[in-house]
Amino acid sequence: MRFLNSKLKIENTILQNIAKKYGTPAYCYSYKQLRENINDFKKNFKSISPLICFAIKSNTNLNLIKEIKKFGLGADVVSMGELMLALKAGISPKKIVFSGVGKTSKEINFAIDKNILLINSESKSEIIEIDKIAKIKKKQVNIGIRLNPNTDAKTLSQISTGKKDNKFGVNDKTFFELVRYCKNSKNINLKCLSVHIGSQILDHKPYEKMLRILDKIIKKTQYKFDFIDLGGGMGIPYNNDKKLNYKKYHSAIKKFLKNKKSQIIFEPGRSIVGNTGVLISKVIYIKKSYKKNFIILDAAMNDLMRPALYGAVHRILPLLKRSKKSKKIYEFVGPICESTDKFTSIKNFQELKEKDFIAICDVGAYGISLSSNYNLRPKPIEILINGSKIRVVKKRQKHHEII
Ligand SMILES: *Cc1c(COP(=O)(O)O)cnc(C)c1O
Repeated sequence: MRFLNSKLKIENTILQNIAKKYGTPAYCYSYKQLRENINDFKKNFKSISPLICFAIKSNTNLNLIKEIKKFGLGADVVSMGELMLALKAGISPKKIVFSGVGKTSKEINFAIDKNILLINSESKSEIIEIDKIAKIKKKQVNIGIRLNPNTDAKTLSQISTGKKDNKFGVNDKTFFELVRYCKNSKNINLKCLSVHIGSQILDHKPYEKMLRILDKIIKKTQYKFDFIDLGGGMGIPYNNDKKLNYKKYHSAIKKFLKNKKSQIIFEPGRSIVGNTGVLISKVIYIKKSYKKNFIILDAAMNDLMRPALYGAVHRILPLLKRSKKSKKIYEFVGPICESTDKFTSIKNFQELKEKDFIAICDVGAYGISLSSNYNLRPKPIEILINGSKIRVVKKRQKHHEII
């Protein structure tokens, strides 16, 4: 994404033209950025030949997932709906892992029937349920057990998942007990140890710590895991921060893998799609207030929930650059009747006028997938840009579809 002659472009496409032709709010994704992210990820971890399972929950656009599939990625799913979507995108069941703290028996039945690679389980009760269903089906089911390594991922508390207070995974004591349970079961094959300590992790040190803990636990169990699933969580720069250092993470994994024959599984979401997307929006009104001006957009928290949900801050850029700066603080808000329906406040933004367009950046992950119809607002259109080729990958929802 860059400015050319004051116009913001994704690849060769001027976003202002997209806004005028397709209306706003609109999600626009860059195909080249997607390809670069996947190739970069693969290149950095090449020497350990991992299975890369894209975390579907980060972006649920079918056509985008079809493109991701073409690069050979599998899928990490967390519900029956996501599993159906991954299969519909043509992803081989042999590359699909099913995560999540509470899979219903309906979901377990479906996953077993589809012969997916792994069901990663997070409790004794769920493993007993899988065992029961597998027995009825007279099948052997491959599972993983998710460990809670009690490691602080040093990320936002709302997206931290590997500390002992979090609901995710099982503690070491339960882990050992469950390994024994699986050894004695005729219908369960324990294949994998899985972890996922959180999201938007920028520092490699929590991962190093997690690997040291895994190493100890594996030694104690003396069990040969075919797979070690390290989850996702690789952080990206939203503002001025640096993305996770893949090289350092990679060398820690290489060290960890010495004297082990396991294959590594990754479940990246954000790092694959996060910086591929922008949400373009129109300034409906500008409302002057005491110290700031409210920039009232046609995009709202239902379209992009991260700021309201986690206090996340996304950069905002104008689609048309002007040199004059505003003296007032601009607070970018949506029209929804909630005080948390605001994106961010910016000082010294360029002067904006009503009917101008802006882009909220880095919304490819947890953008459309967290969107809702709150206030009965139809979901935005989604567009994939490849050079100067423009493809609508999801139509804008119509009112009659939601009323
Ligand atoms: C959400 C999630 C992921 C993806 O996390 P990112 O931060 O988007 O990489 C991977 N694995 C599991 C189990 C998850 O819940």
